[in-house]
Amino acid sequence: MAVRKTKYEMPEQPPKERIKNFKEVPYGYSNETAIEEAKRCLQCKNKPCMEGCPVEIDIPGFIKCIAEGDFDKAAEIIKNKNSLPAVSGRVCPYEGQCEGVCTVKKIGEPVAIGRLERFIADYEREKGVKTPKKPKSTGKKIAVVGSGPAGLTCAGDLAKMGHGVTVFEALHAPGGVLMYGIPEFRLPKKIVNSEVDYIKKLGVEVRYDMVVGKTITVDELFEEYDAVFIGTGAGLPRWLRIPGENLDGVYSANEFLTRVNMMGAYRFPEYDTPVKIGKIVATFGAGNVAMDCARTSLRLGAEKSYIIYRRSDVEMPARDEEIEHAREEGVIFKLLTNPVKFIGDDKGLLKQVECIKMKLGEPDDSGRRRPIPIPGSEETIKIDTALVAIGQSPNPLIPQTVKGLKMGKWGNIDTDEAGRTSIPGLFAGGDIATGAATVILAMGAGKRAARAIDEYIKSKK
Ligand code: FAD
Ligand code: SF4
Ligand code: SF4
Repeated sequence: MAVRKTKYEMPEQPPKERIKNFKEVPYGYSNETAIEEAKRCLQCKNKPCMEGCPVEIDIPGFIKCIAEGDFDKAAEIIKNKNSLPAVSGRVCPYEGQCEGVCTVKKIGEPVAIGRLERFIADYEREKGVKTPKKPKSTGKKIAVVGSGPAGLTCAGDLAKMGHGVTVFEALHAPGGVLMYGIPEFRLPKKIVNSEVDYIKKLGVEVRYDMVVGKTITVDELFEEYDAVFIGTGAGLPRWLRIPGENLDGVYSANEFLTRVNMMGAYRFPEYDTPVKIGKIVATFGAGNVAMDCARTSLRLGAEKSYIIYRRSDVEMPARDEEIEHAREEGVIFKLLTNPVKFIGDDKGLLKQVECIKMKLGEPDDSGRRRPIPIPGSEETIKIDTALVAIGQSPNPLIPQTVKGLKMGKWGNIDTDEAGRTSIPGLFAGGDIATGAATVILAMGAGKRAARAIDEYIKSKK
């Protein structure tokens, strides 16, 4: 039978409706659609899709189970490698990973691996996740710093090996960027909470309001624990460094999204949030963070929401789906445009941004074509809120407080492939080691570090 060339559509809220609420945009597949989509898989013997998955899920294996209607077995196969499937099924940039190398892509759209993973994770959650069996205790204790995807994955895998794991989290809630960065309409908090509950059921303890480096030091952790994993992420905002950036109305994307997520603004308009947004909002950058800012602004009542980006649409780093959703919702894309200065009134309130048009030159160190300003093409745009989303750097607190820790040139902790740092027993992974990257790469790093920690502990017996 010929393979259908296109993915089965996933129904979603219409754009005009969804910009008035923070509810999740796609509804997910029905049982019937998931089975039909799973039947598009060719069950390739060489499994190219698996090489594109940083957490090594047996993709053909779980898809075969869906095609046969055995959703429980599919969930078991996924959970074997991935403790956070409802998260990765929603936010993984699968177009450049598992789906990017799917054989079906040669004749049309790849198998919708991400959507199928999400379907199974949601099926399992709605049915009630089985309490995992706890393995025999090894008597060893490991401290994990940070409860983002790197820390949670590392903690979950170590607990499955029988080690005692305590996670130390600076904030009052778990999940890292999954909770305070990515908005509710892309990743509902109840889903993050339910995946964290699963990790806790594996026996992991989470201690909140523990800022390691201030409340407790890494040296103090070593007095009680056999090994320490650092997964503190990249939360330090980068700025445009142009005049007027200190005006009232200019925020870093991090500050804006953290306020929205942690101060209940996502419950707007039912909940009167202290987070206020202007009428005309400009977001600078074109990654996932920028799309989240632009789309959140619309939901909080902005009349116009711009994405201002110095390169062209080909270079935009956001996931395809986020860009498409932003366009459908009416976000205005001003590409090949770079801000030069912010202009305020005599009270220090932001009023305008001056921009210059750009053209693309030869590729730079990043491999992308270098944007070059076009003299005389300056224009002024009226705005009252600016959100700067041009990247984040690794959090500096732990590197500053651990003596002898070798650092990389971007302020990241230097590690080998397995997450070993220059200090025996101290491991690191995720954005703190790579710089701002993706959820699934952070999870992959947490997984590799868990294996290396287990080896390290066994070697010390
Ligand atoms: P984090 O998720 O940053 O978690 C670090 C944790 O450590 C936090 O909970 C923090 O509070 C805690 N911490 C920090 N310092 C300390 C300390 N001293 N003591 C104790 N705890 C500490 N990636 C995708 O793949 N797809 C997407 O769609 C996507 N969208 C994104 C949208 C936004 C708005 C942002 C900001 C990022 C997005 N990313 C996306 C990137 C992705 O979220 C990150 O790469 C990923 O979360 C990194 O995981 P991590 O565990 O390394 O760090
Ligand atoms: Fe694909 Fe990401 Fe799921 Fe792996 S975790 S199968 S890369 S969507
Ligand atoms: Fe199925 Fe695509 Fe993987 Fe082949 S590459 S097994 S078609 S998901």
